[in-house]
Parts: sequence; C-alpha cells; structure tokens
Amino acid sequence: MKSLKPKIAIIGAGNVGSTFAFSLMISGLIREIVLIDKNELIAKGEVMDLNHGLSFAHPTKIYTAGFDGCKNADIVVITAGAKQKPGQSRIDLVQNNVTLFKDIIPAIAKYAGNAILLVVTNPVDILTYVTLKISGLPPNRVIGSGTVLDTARLKYMISEYYKVDPNNIHAYIIGEHGDTELPVWSNATIGGMDIEKYCTDYVHPAIAKNELSEIFEKVKNAAYEIIQAKGATNYSIALTLVKIIRSIVRNENSILPVSTLITNYYGISDICISIPSRVNIKGVGHFLKLDLSEQEQELFKLSANTLKKIIKTIDL
Ligand code: NAD
Repeated sequence: MKSLKPKIAIIGAGNVGSTFAFSLMISGLIREIVLIDKNELIAKGEVMDLNHGLSFAHPTKIYTAGFDGCKNADIVVITAGAKQKPGQSRIDLVQNNVTLFKDIIPAIAKYAGNAILLVVTNPVDILTYVTLKISGLPPNRVIGSGTVLDTARLKYMISEYYKVDPNNIHAYIIGEHGDTELPVWSNATIGGMDIEKYCTDYVHPAIAKNELSEIFEKVKNAAYEIIQAKGATNYSIALTLVKIIRSIVRNENSILPVSTLITNYYGISDICISIPSRVNIKGVGHFLKLDLSEQEQELFKLSANTLKKIIKTIDL
C-alpha cells in the first residue's frame, strides 16, 4: 500500500461492481477508482453517473479503462462474470466463470502484480482458488469475500429475532459461501453469553434450538429469495466489500470470515474456504483455528470436500 488513500480497480461494472463503486466513493477511503468492464458503454455510463454525485461525497478520481487500468492498483476487486438466475445455485456458475477467470486473471496479474486481489464472483471459494493458482500471488494476497455477507445476514436476523443490537452478537457462518455453509453456534455469543443459554434464559426457553435452525435456514436461502424477487443482490454485498477494504487499507485487523487458502484445518488442506481470519494491510494475516463441536467439524469437512470435488474437475 503506497498511500493512506489507495487506488482500487473494480473488474465488472454490473449490479455488484457499480453499487460497490458507489459505496466506496461515499466511504472516502479511496483516492482513485477505476471501473473495468468488457461492456465499455456500461462502464462509461456508471462512471459518468458516479462522477456527477462527487461534489456530495469525497474527492475521488473515478474513471474507466481497459485492463491496463489495473496498473498501480493497491487492490483489485473482481465482480465480473455470470450471476445466478432464479433457482440456480452458485456452483452452477462454475464452468462459465472459471473460463472467464482463465482469461482475465493473467491480464490483471500482468498490470497489478503487487496488488491484493479480492474475488467476489461466484462460486467465490472455487474462483478464489483458481485466482490463487493462475496469478501465482502469495495466499495472503488472494482473498474471497467468502461468508462475510452470510455472517452479516446471520447477525441481522439474530438481532431481529431477539431484539438485540447486532454489535453485541458474535457469530460466524463458515465453510462454502453456498449451500453447504454452516453456522458456528458452539462459539456464538450475545453480550458475551453463550447464544443457546441466552435464548433459553431470556427469550423462548422451549423453542430456542428450533429458532436458531430457522434463522440459519433463512440466512442460507436469503440470496435465492432476493434473486427471485429482484434478479440480483447488490447493496449488502457492496457494504460487505467496503468493510473488507476498510480493514485492509486502514490495517484494522478485523476478524472476518473471508475465503482463504487453508492448510491442515481439521485435516483439510489446499482449498480456499471461509473461516474467521485477521484481515489487514497485507491481506489475510492468519486464520483462526476455532474449537468446533463434533457435529460442526463433520459439516465443515462436508463443505470442504464439496469444494475439493469441484476443484478436481477443473483443468488449471
Ligand atoms: P452482472 O451481470 O450485473 O455484472 C457482471 C458484469 O461482468 C457485467 O457488466 C459484464 O459485462 C461483466 N463482465 C463479464 N465478462 C467480463 C470480462 N471478461 N471482463 C470484464 N467484465 C466482464 O452481475 P452481478 O449481479 O454484478 O454479479 C457479479 C458476480 O458477483 C456474480 O458471479 C454473482 O454471483 C457474484 N456475487 C457474489 C456475491 C458474494 O457474496 N460473493 C454476492 C453477490 C453477487
């Protein structure tokens, strides 16, 4: 990172890329934003619209370019690619988006070899791994947005059910950002108190466990529901990305469940998957070896093995 107000390149100016650019411009964290899309007209239109609001935000240079625009970028955020159609899973996108990444990652690495790459395109864990392998960058500099958004959804839903400020809730979704993800209830707390005990003592003693399962099902299916309703998710993922970027550029060391390369995590190695990790100016500092319950360990292994099987089918 060369300055306290770095440059970000955003690849893909669709729903996610453009909303993220808007959130970033409002955040005041960034000096320069370049939007890159194969549809040059879309990128041009988004840049014009963003620039016209600049006098109400923070001084930021916002422009569009080809992949050479990644030059001197401190962070490259990749949102380009196919998105889920209603009813499609994230894994259904794998073939199209791996082909796309084989094309764009060498172009990004050519111009931004010193940058941190933040992958958002789905299936995000698979594409983070693909990015790591194709770019040849060190693992700390290749990050997937992982289950940071799912975790935000979880905190929001717990706060709604139990009428508690989300800031007083500590709980993580880990594993695949997708159908096999899991909540870590064994480590979850409200106000420092074990979440199940909190629910039993202060909320609905008889149905506390059922409610937690109901909350998780809602979290897991949230993207399907939003996509069915409006075709894409954009606001919450944009704010998720700003949170990750803030932790990097301000060296905040936030613990976030980003997708990162794991080695010997409950016996699993050589995949990118989400577990709480320290995020700072170097990218991913280190990941946390949580004490998972036996059931959580099984679910985590199932999730990891699902990703492993898909990775084995990819010709890298
Ligand atoms: P979108 O269709 O609105 O935008 C994708 C953009 O990528 C388009 O503008 C397209 O022109 C561009 N693009 C395609 N090929 C390109 C190339 N070779 N070079 C440059 N640009 C290219 O889709 P969206 O709603 O913005 O979603 C983008 C991706 O983000 C999807 O894969 C979606 O599933 C994913 N997503 C991930 C999360 C997460 O939590 N990880 C959340 C929301 C969406």
